[in-house]
Amino acid sequence: MAVGAFMLCAVRRGILGGTFDPFHVVHLMAGDAARHLLDLDVVTYITAGDPYQKHDIPMSTKDHRWNMTVRGIGEVEYFEADDREVQRPGPSYMIDTLETFEADEEIFLILGADAAAGLATWHRWEEVVERTTIAVISRPGVAEEEVAATGAPYLWLDTPGIPISSTMLRARAEAGRSIRFFVPDPVWEYVEEQQLYAPA
Ligand code: ATP
Ligand code: MG
Repeated sequence: MAVGAFMLCAVRRGILGGTFDPFHVVHLMAGDAARHLLDLDVVTYITAGDPYQKHDIPMSTKDHRWNMTVRGIGEVEYFEADDREVQRPGPSYMIDTLETFEADEEIFLILGADAAAGLATWHRWEEVVERTTIAVISRPGVAEEEVAATGAPYLWLDTPGIPISSTMLRARAEAGRSIRFFVPDPVWEYVEEQQLYAPA
C-alpha cells in the first residue's frame, strides 16, 4: 500500500455498552477517560436492547433507557449514542454488534472491571476478544486479578474507582432519596418527568 499524505487513517472507536438504567456520571467519566488515554476519535455508547444476562431483574423499557442515553451524553463532540441494539430484535450479543462495524476500524471495548471479569460468560466471547482491545475502568469491589483471571488480554486504564452503580441509584430513588447530580441533569429531569423509579 502506498503511504502518502492522502492515506486515510482507520477510525479509533471506543464502544461503551450498557443497560443505562439509569445512565449515570461514571458512564460519562469512563468514556472520557478512555478517549483521552487511548486517543480515540469517538466513543460510541450502545444501549442494550435486551440485556440477556439481566432477565431476572426488573428493568425500565428499552425506549426509556435509550432516551436516558441520548440525554446523558449531551452535546459532547466526541461522544455518540447508537441505537443498533435497541432496534435489533433478540438478545443483545456484543459480537453481533461488533460485526456491524467496518472491519478496518480499531475498536476498543470499554468495560468496567465487573463487566471485564465476567467476559467469559458472553456469547462467543473469544471472538469479541479477537476483534477488540479490551480497555478496563477500575470499579470498587473488583480486583484487577479477577479481570486477569479471564486470560483475555486487556489494558487497565488509570482511573479512580467510583462507587456508583445504576442498581444503587434505582434503590436510592425507590427509597425516596435524591439521585440528582449522580446522573447528568437532563437524565435527572427525564427520570422525574417519567417517574421512572418513583417510591412505591
Ligand atoms: P447496573 O447496576 O444496573 O448493572 P451499572 O452501573 O453497572 O448498572 P451498566 O449500564 O450495567 O451500569 O454498565 C455499563 C458499563 O459501565 C459496564 O461496563 C460497567 O462495568 C461500567 N460501569 C458502570 N458504573 C461503573 C463504575 N462505577 N465504575 C466502573 N465502571 C462502571
Ligand atoms: Mg452493570
